[in-house]
Amino acid sequence: MTTSPRTLPVLLAPVHHELLGSYLHRLADANHLTIRGLSREIGPGRYHRRDSDDLTGWTPRAVSRLAALTGTSTSTLLHALPVLRITALTGQPTAPGPPLAPWHAHACMLCAARRGVHGLAIIRVFPHQRICHRHGRWHGGGTQRPLRARLPETLHANVRHRKLVRRHGVVAVTERFLQAQELTQQWLTGDGPADLKHRWQHRLDLLGQDPYGDPHRPSPARIELVTYPETVTMTGLALVRPGQPPEEHLTAAPGGKLPSSLRRPQEFLSHPVNTQVRELDPGHDH
Ligand SMILES: [Zn+2]
Repeated sequence: MTTSPRTLPVLLAPVHHELLGSYLHRLADANHLTIRGLSREIGPGRYHRRDSDDLTGWTPRAVSRLAALTGTSTSTLLHALPVLRITALTGQPTAPGPPLAPWHAHACMLCAARRGVHGLAIIRVFPHQRICHRHGRWHGGGTQRPLRARLPETLHANVRHRKLVRRHGVVAVTERFLQAQELTQQWLTGDGPADLKHRWQHRLDLLGQDPYGDPHRPSPARIELVTYPETVTMTGLALVRPGQPPEEHLTAAPGGKLPSSLRRPQEFLSHPVNTQVRELDPGHDH
């Protein structure tokens, strides 16, 4: 370890909301270093998993050394790598920032390429961020795929989903979304309403064969994708305050008419609140 850290020969910027392990692996790969070797130069001196935000051994000094090695500022790193914002590393009192998304996904490959990102970047995402609205692509798991031609209703649903988040906040919307998703997925794989099951099967057919999957058991990512428009509609209905009419542009049914199966949000309002979102807010991440 040197007292005055060098700048790495190949400098890479982190992707927005990238996992620390993902960024370190990309840096190490680009500079032909082992992850332990890079980590020794930074300070922690240990292995980091690519899909992890584990901060064991990290100190404010380590963040400064990473900034020096990558020729950037600590504030840039803190902005892009949310896990570094915890009090112990910033030395600042905890600010009530936005919650950290507990889910991981590969960054949209087209967005990554546009920014000159090399290698596989793993980012934190909320459910509404699993579809890239810039490129109209699914990147929430499994094969990344364009949606505009085959499943345009998923892109319209994503616009509504993002509006709901802006209006009601990410925690409230995500909790309702997870409840709604639990139900739509049960319906698809079980004894759900025939009109919806037919619609979802049609979308699965449009997606074509999954080369890596069981043709009779769609993968969780495919199930999430084909049920997504109805899940968002149910999310919007569940967020309507009692006594208020639903806002059509936020709860609109894909294809126009709301199926009778989706007209009673009470069915899933009684489901227990999914606590996944609350588990990983900035104060609980470690
Ligand atoms: Zn994109």
